[in-house]
Amino acid sequence: MLELKKEKCTGCGACNNACPIKCINMEEDEEGFLYPQVDFQKCTECGLCEKSCPAINIPVRENFKEPEVYAAWSLDDAVRADSSSGGIFTELSHKVLDDGGYVSGARYNTDNLVEHCLINRREQLHELRQSKYVQSETGLIFKDVKMLLEENKTVMFTGTPCQSAGLLQYLDKKYDNLFLCDIVCHGVNSPMVYLKYFKELEEEYSSRIKTINFRNKRNGWKEFGTSVIFENGEEYFRSHKTDSFFKGFLANLYLRRSCYNCQFKGFPRVSDITLADFWGVVLNNEKEIFKGISLILINSEKGKFYIEKISNNISKMQKTLNDAMLKNPCMVKSVPMSTKRDLMFKALKKEINVENIICSIINY
Ligand SMILES: Cc1cc2nc3c(=O)[nH]c(=O)nc-3n(C[C@H](O)[C@H](O)[C@H](O)COP(=O)(O)OP(=O)(O)OC[C@H]3O[C@@H](n4cnc5c(N)ncnc54)[C@H](O)[C@@H]3O)c2cc1C
Repeated sequence: MLELKKEKCTGCGACNNACPIKCINMEEDEEGFLYPQVDFQKCTECGLCEKSCPAINIPVRENFKEPEVYAAWSLDDAVRADSSSGGIFTELSHKVLDDGGYVSGARYNTDNLVEHCLINRREQLHELRQSKYVQSETGLIFKDVKMLLEENKTVMFTGTPCQSAGLLQYLDKKYDNLFLCDIVCHGVNSPMVYLKYFKELEEEYSSRIKTINFRNKRNGWKEFGTSVIFENGEEYFRSHKTDSFFKGFLANLYLRRSCYNCQFKGFPRVSDITLADFWGVVLNNEKEIFKGISLILINSEKGKFYIEKISNNISKMQKTLNDAMLKNPCMVKSVPMSTKRDLMFKALKKEINVENIICSIINY
């Protein structure tokens, strides 16, 4: 029977995927995050939910103790412009898709929330591209991935480190045809705060949102901003330093509780490849920096194989792990919980404008 403290549960959904009699539902708590709820009337206590939980049974990590580190970017400027950092996710995906494989990753759904999906064509890839700063719902994607793996299809699964760990623990078997690619993760924001914030923007602009892009590079990769396009053709654009939702994210105001004590950081990594922004990269070429630089951690022989396969489509230079960690502490360390987090969620219960709440709490 699944018993897990709220501080530990990542919401990866492995338990929900594993339950053979579908007696687990992922339900929203008062902060807007999904947690498993067991129907004890139906539960047969088979134990598969606990067995699949990566927070209870942390997967054995057999990857490199010290990854190979590269600063890299796609040679395709259009891909790079549309990606958060250097577009390496897209280049890896192209390789997998062109060879007849599948890619799983996070996309926006029709309500602007984020969910995991599976694709097998290049034309669908734009949906997965770009960092989305809210927790993605995994639904029953682990089951779908397993089905494809059993059919000998290659699957590249991408997501946060806890989602990679959830999939591994759920599968409970090694698959040569599974390629895991995660991100360095600061933490995931509350879907409730996110939804309220963007609903308010819709009211302000008197129009529904068409697209959200948190990593617009019009002012360069380092000066990225949030661009929201509305159905009436108008646009909201703010730098990450002035957009209130992003400021609250960077102040750790509304991350999932488990993110403040993440068990999936450090080395060896769970996934074959880890992607991130190479903040602080030293490069004598401001033009390249303006377009965005990815950090690649190669964590396994499989990861090495895939990076070699895309070597004609990317530019890369070897760096040290120290170079990589200098400006990216989230690789190894969880961010601290904001002391104002409780205040934030208490204030949200009152019908006050979310943007005002975030601003006044940050400046409090
Ligand atoms: C919530 C979050 C926090 C992050 N924190 C950091 C950080 O602290 N430091 C850092 O250097 N980089 C961080 N990143 C990673 C970084 O922003 C880029 O995603 C990464 O560099 C890959 O960029 P790309 O240009 O190769 O591909 P892109 O096309 O930009 O990235 C797409 C990839 O991101 C995945 N993805 C997007 N949104 C989500 C989501 N909500 N949940 C799970 N997977 C998602 C997609 O599945 C796909 O694999 C974070 C990303 C996210 C989503």
